[in-house]
Amino acid sequence: MSTAEPLLRIRGLHTRYGAVTALRDIDLDVAQGELVALVGANGAGKTTLLNTLSGIHPHSQGEIHFDGEEISRLKAQKRVARGITQVPEGRQVFGPMSVADNLALGAYVRGRGAAVDRDIDWVYELFPILAEKRRQAAGMLSGGQQQMLAIGRALMARPRLLLLDEPSMGLAPLLIEEIFEIVRNLNADGITILLVEQNAAGALAIADRGFVLETGEITVSGTGRELADHPEVRRAYLGISDVPATENEQDK
Ligand code: ATP
Repeated sequence: MSTAEPLLRIRGLHTRYGAVTALRDIDLDVAQGELVALVGANGAGKTTLLNTLSGIHPHSQGEIHFDGEEISRLKAQKRVARGITQVPEGRQVFGPMSVADNLALGAYVRGRGAAVDRDIDWVYELFPILAEKRRQAAGMLSGGQQQMLAIGRALMARPRLLLLDEPSMGLAPLLIEEIFEIVRNLNADGITILLVEQNAAGALAIADRGFVLETGEITVSGTGRELADHPEVRRAYLGISDVPATENEQDK
């Protein structure tokens, strides 16, 4: 791979559900080592984009290049083998299975062996609470712990690009902070991340760059800082009105 080539390069991507176009003409790059946030309202198409990248849902038009290879027609399992791993929305751990077995499942494309055992230890180092609860059924964990397990399971595939779908969803504020901190640390450890979030403030605060998706199209893009300062993003996604307080007073 040349250094100029981004790890992920999406061009003119369209995805449909029957007659409904859910993604329209998406262009998006993620460079090696970047943390990129994709924000947008309910139903904007964020999950659809991740599902299209991981191969869960087929694209209808356009190109997806990963590490220089066009992968848009590869089956999902082959994309995992290439290094693309998705953490689905709503955690989706295997409830009756133990924490340890959930993690082992994450390495299924790699088989078993010493390297996999080392990675389980690495995940336990990242998330000590999972080590403590390794024999417990995953379904007995709290929401935040299940999210850690879902991320840990994805890490077991040794991803080069981690697709995170709303990791903060349904968590208490303190846990949300912890999850964003974990995401930031994973990225600092060298994992390239595409983070989908409705919590735009939290996501843009840790992202190198961000994109706003509105009804299937990218409408705004920039650095995390630029997006967090963008008046339209502030109004629509951060719930902040930029009308100065003094003007509000005059309106009264
Ligand atoms: P959320 O945060 O609610 O998950 P999202 O931004 O991830 O929203 P998507 O779930 O990707 O949005 O949905 C994008 C659009 O595609 C929506 O209009 C949705 O109704 C539609 N859609 C999603 N899944 C399907 C499906 N299986 N069949 C038909 N339409 C779908």
